[in-house]
Amino acid sequence: MSEVPVLIVGGGPVGLVASLLLSRLGIRSLLVERHPGTAIHPKARGINARTMEVFRQQGIEAVVRQAGLPPERTGFIVWARSLAGEEIERRVPWGRSERSSDVSPVRACLCAQDYLEPVLRRSAEEQAPGELRFNTELKGFTQDGVGVTATLRDVVSGAEQEVMAEYMIAADGAQSAVRAALGVGMVGKKDVYDSVNILLEADLRPWTADRPAALYFIENDKLRGTFLTINAHDRWGFLVNSLKAQGYTAQDFTPERSAALVRLAAGVPDLPVNVLGVAPWVASAHVAEQYRHGRIFLAGDAAHEMPPTGGFGMNTGVQDVHNLCWKLALVLQGRAADSLLQTYHDERQPLARTITEQALANAVSMGRLQKIQKTTGARPEFLNEQGMIFGASYTSSAVVPDGSPPPAVANPITDYVASARPGGRAPHAWLQAKDGTRVSTIDLVGKGFTLLGGAKAAKWAEAAKALEVTPVTVGNGSLQPADERWRETYGIGDDGAVLVRPDGYVAWRAASAAPDAARTLAAAMNAILGSIRDRAS
Ligand SMILES: Cc1cc2nc3c(=O)[nH]c(=O)nc-3n(C[C@H](O)[C@H](O)[C@H](O)COP(=O)(O)OP(=O)(O)OC[C@H]3O[C@@H](n4cnc5c(N)ncnc54)[C@H](O)[C@@H]3O)c2cc1C
Repeated sequence: MSEVPVLIVGGGPVGLVASLLLSRLGIRSLLVERHPGTAIHPKARGINARTMEVFRQQGIEAVVRQAGLPPERTGFIVWARSLAGEEIERRVPWGRSERSSDVSPVRACLCAQDYLEPVLRRSAEEQAPGELRFNTELKGFTQDGVGVTATLRDVVSGAEQEVMAEYMIAADGAQSAVRAALGVGMVGKKDVYDSVNILLEADLRPWTADRPAALYFIENDKLRGTFLTINAHDRWGFLVNSLKAQGYTAQDFTPERSAALVRLAAGVPDLPVNVLGVAPWVASAHVAEQYRHGRIFLAGDAAHEMPPTGGFGMNTGVQDVHNLCWKLALVLQGRAADSLLQTYHDERQPLARTITEQALANAVSMGRLQKIQKTTGARPEFLNEQGMIFGASYTSSAVVPDGSPPPAVANPITDYVASARPGGRAPHAWLQAKDGTRVSTIDLVGKGFTLLGGAKAAKWAEAAKALEVTPVTVGNGSLQPADERWRETYGIGDDGAVLVRPDGYVAWRAASAAPDAARTLAAAMNAILGSIRDRAS
């Protein structure tokens, strides 16, 4: 029997990112994926700026952007009677707007899942040659106090092999067999509406090039569907929602009928259309009651299924494993207690419930659950969710509160107020290096904990070094605040400090100096990582 620290089940975007993250943290893993290769359908396309920050931290932002389209080629969302017909409404989503650069050094990106996954696969394989096995499925598993014993099956030869892993990440998608075998309950609504995705070739530039958009919603009295931009030229998705409400069944979508519907939605009866594939799916809006089951962690769609309205499914999944992998690494290295692993559920599950509710509210506002109406549009929160994306705040034992209240906002979904309050994402502020180059605070987060301190925080910096935390001093000459944003958002004096976790979230903050910096910071680290006694046991 072979042994591996972490077994990852599923080679979708979430499993692939988990593999990459673990390798970069020095943890060996084995990823198994039952299909021979990566996704052939472009399901997810919208990568939000927070996920792009994760990709930037892993050094793959540029290759992902290369595979996708820049914001200016997908700058709008359009509602129309047909592509060639009357335009009803045009919006600029927040992620495509210039305002988004106040919040992050990174812009959102549109990259279809079938273009993204090969990039993720290549990056993961470069880090862990031979540790990603396609054509290999998880057939069964058992777990006990020391590990998970998994039976793997080679899909081509049928050969079976047992692998012993200390931990297993179930990134096996919405139909997760691991979740089913564990008997995990789901909270929320299952099967809220049905849809088909049509992947097609057609040159739609004459009706799209002058209003480049990520989505073209078509609403007329015969049809409700959405053109999904893939390469903004001759490769598109067409999504028909709410089949039952529109009087269709999935079987109606033969290639000929699908092409006819595309022509109807385009409003161009003689449009040449080549249908490449048709994939029916059903949207659900529910979240696993518990993400952790002993040594097994649910992640991505295995943990939460949500309607794609808002583009949160993959983004939430990537951010799940970004939250989980550093915790697994520290526990496997004996540097944190098992209690740190429970914070994965405590932090990610409540957030997924909020995101799922919001994705469903978007869908409802767009009439996804009803028969065709004259005008549906979408609620103002749709693709304007920067409060939820950047302002999410964790409550768990891996965060030490500092007694400050959360920033006051009128609408927590749309309004983001940058703050380094413990539990939130360490905000973006530009700093200037001696040579004049600008560095974002986001780029200072490394593989371990980072302590951002003011110019007179030498005692905090000393304490950090003794705890294997990387100190960074802001304001001492080598890194100066580029503007007022550092002071406004970090909320510390020159002698204060902010402790940032490897996932970019604030774990602890001291507004000013403390009488015994070494003891104070050690106590905070101990609270976050679990007590030394627990770690040794
Ligand atoms: C129309 C549509 C549009 C969407 N748009 C967006 C968007 O814009 N932004 C966004 O963030 N999300 C979007 N999503 C959601 C996104 O596609 C999913 O959230 C994402 O694919 C989830 O990734 P995952 O890795 O968790 O699961 P999956 O992508 O489903 O991958 C799971 C993998 O596990 C494998 N597997 C399953 N069981 C086993 C087993 N026993 N052994 C080995 N392998 C196994 C499967 O073969 C599969 O490859 C959209 C979805 C749809 C349907």
